[in-house]
Amino acid sequence: MNYQKILEEIAEEVQPLLGQGKVADYIPALAEIDPKQFAMSITCNDGNVYHTGLTSTKFSIQSISKVYGFTLALRAYKAKLYDRVWREPSGDPFNSLVQLEYEAGIPRNPFINAGAIVVTDALYSRYQEQTLQELLNFVRDSADNSAISIDKRVANSEMEHGFRNMSLANLMKSFGNFNNDVTPVLEAYFGQCSIAMNTEELSRSMLYLANNGTDPITHKNFITPAQAKRINAVMLTCGHYDASGDFAFRVGLPGKSGVGGGIIAVVPGKMSIAVFSPALNEQGNSLVGTKALELFTTKTGLSIF
Ligand code: GLN
Repeated sequence: MNYQKILEEIAEEVQPLLGQGKVADYIPALAEIDPKQFAMSITCNDGNVYHTGLTSTKFSIQSISKVYGFTLALRAYKAKLYDRVWREPSGDPFNSLVQLEYEAGIPRNPFINAGAIVVTDALYSRYQEQTLQELLNFVRDSADNSAISIDKRVANSEMEHGFRNMSLANLMKSFGNFNNDVTPVLEAYFGQCSIAMNTEELSRSMLYLANNGTDPITHKNFITPAQAKRINAVMLTCGHYDASGDFAFRVGLPGKSGVGGGIIAVVPGKMSIAVFSPALNEQGNSLVGTKALELFTTKTGLSIF
């Protein structure tokens, strides 16, 4: 299949949609981003890469980082992790507090904020003040790129405006599902959200999920095949918050979005695809990114269904 040609067709077809939707505006560093940007990269298990658009433009990976956190926590705690966070879709917005209250402080899944914060708390119990560095090391390792770093301006701004996330953490603490001090755990969580990557790096870094937990290029083993299966399943069912059903319906691949406008999708056994376009739909997922992935699976037939 001519993936390069398909990417170029998609870039052309999404042009009229660029600018629809709204960039995240809860912090200045995200609010000032040009909404009309577009980039899409594919990295295949055989090492071939295909790119279109602004594929070297770095952006804030935001909630895509929850995939790395879940990976590290699953590796550290195995199935015991599910005592503290479930794996069911929430059907609620990513930063919702209500469900957490009536479900006694156990978040629905590791991809809503509450779940990701509990995952960071679990990692903090293991790695203490090295938690963020461990996460960053994992991202660098999986991307085979030691230059990936954190955008400090975004991280500081997240911390300054993190009232809702602090509420989530404190609510979980009140239910006994939080083991460390809230502030350092949130610093680590905001730090991981503020990792800056481009689509080339993102698609490269998630390749272990397309190859049963082992990077097909460096042959580094990160997690077991069973764990890779679980992560992909949770991405499929929970990776887009209250639009996860719609993403599965349109795209038919495991995927994870971030409010920075990135989405990562996995074609098991074949490739990882990263797309970036900052304007978001109502559920906080890249509007054009979702469309681009929908076009990709329609044109190639490469959905899991
Ligand atoms: N930093 C954001 C937050 O915690 C991440 C949310 C997202 O990407 N959906 O609110």
